[in-house]
Amino acid sequence: MNETHLEVRDMARRFADEVIRPAAVDLDRDGRFPAELYEEMAGLGLFGIGVPEALGGPGLDTLAYALVMEELARGYASVADQCGLVELIASLLVRHGTGAQQGLLGDILAMRRKVAYCITEAEAGSDVSGIRTTAVRDGTGWVLDGGKLWIHNAPVADLGFVLARTDPAQGNRGMSIFVVDLHAPGVARGTAEHKMGQRASQVGALTFSEVRLPADALLGEEGRGFHIMMSVLDKGRVGIGALAVGIAQAGLEAAVGYAAERRQFGKAIAEFQGVQWLLADMAKDIEAARLLVQSAATKLDAGEDATKACSIAKCFASDMAVARTADAVQVFGGAGYIQGYEVERLYRDAKITQIYEGTNQIQRLIIARELLRKGARA
Ligand SMILES: Cc1cc2nc3c(=O)[nH]c(=O)nc-3n(C[C@H](O)[C@H](O)[C@H](O)COP(=O)(O)OP(=O)(O)OC[C@H]3O[C@@H](n4cnc5c(N)ncnc54)[C@H](O)[C@@H]3O)c2cc1C
Repeated sequence: MNETHLEVRDMARRFADEVIRPAAVDLDRDGRFPAELYEEMAGLGLFGIGVPEALGGPGLDTLAYALVMEELARGYASVADQCGLVELIASLLVRHGTGAQQGLLGDILAMRRKVAYCITEAEAGSDVSGIRTTAVRDGTGWVLDGGKLWIHNAPVADLGFVLARTDPAQGNRGMSIFVVDLHAPGVARGTAEHKMGQRASQVGALTFSEVRLPADALLGEEGRGFHIMMSVLDKGRVGIGALAVGIAQAGLEAAVGYAAERRQFGKAIAEFQGVQWLLADMAKDIEAARLLVQSAATKLDAGEDATKACSIAKCFASDMAVARTADAVQVFGGAGYIQGYEVERLYRDAKITQIYEGTNQIQRLIIARELLRKGARA
């Protein structure tokens, strides 16, 4: 870790302590999109961490991104999730966008235009090859038809990055990604879903009925959409791993504080070895997950093949976060089960990290595939 890493981590930590964490209880209760908070974060350069300076970003590496994600999630997971979504879209544009498409980055990083990454459909979750949304050529442009489900930011987004079939006969090689103006005629959006956790993240459906797209809406090569989508997922998984570590860290901090204060049998519960072991196991697993996330980030930054490392980091960190936030609830006893105490929210916020960005069953498939292809020491 160098000076820049420490500076950006400390800046995100301060912002999380002073602004995000105090707002988290209300945001969770109201399920509100915190536009004003995101504008402030944009001013601090916390969106699009990896976007090169030439394209208007801070040009930092994946390790810096992981450090920021952990700190933001320590404040509130929905806020980190917004940062992760912007990073994913920014990575798509940096790697695959035309000059004109990269021109969108200014508005996206400033949160003047909110984005949505639109893959999942009713029949296509883990198995992306099941998507039915189509884009059919029409003159020089395209006509988009279909529907997407559970899309983060769908109720508020301005731009959708939509995976559609452009050649149904070609399977995964017949998909393409389009940049879609979500205010265009033919686009409809559902209301925000009521979710278990990360309740300030707005998630909903999008439907496309004969939406006309210009030729330059195509992102990257026609037919390479599946590959393009996959190309940013390693970094996305580092981000979700870091987010999970941040949630668990917040749980540990709350549990240590409560254990020192809460008295039973005439002493602080922190003096009971049963409670000390809960705290110690939380601390050791959080540290292990943090190191896995940072090691995967470092591998990506070194240009190494990091797919297995990124899946291991995401899978381990998210399983850890669910187990260890449950322990935080346990340390609080009955109070941990009552709404308004931070640990109850952290436990709910952690669960989705085992599901999105590829479920943990899919991560295990990837890990096993890499082991069997490249050997156990690769
Ligand atoms: C809050 C939230 C935000 C989301 N944000 C987005 C977004 O912004 N954009 C987007 O495109 N999608 C988004 N999603 C969708 C998310 O990516 C999917 O829910 C996820 O990929 C899993 O798909 P599924 O829900 O259809 O589950 P399914 O694929 O139906 O899986 C159901 C169960 O079967 C298991 N399973 C499936 N296949 C296998 C297999 N081969 N081997 C072993 N087990 C298997 C899964 O692990 C899971 O346990 C979001 C979902 C939620 C809840």
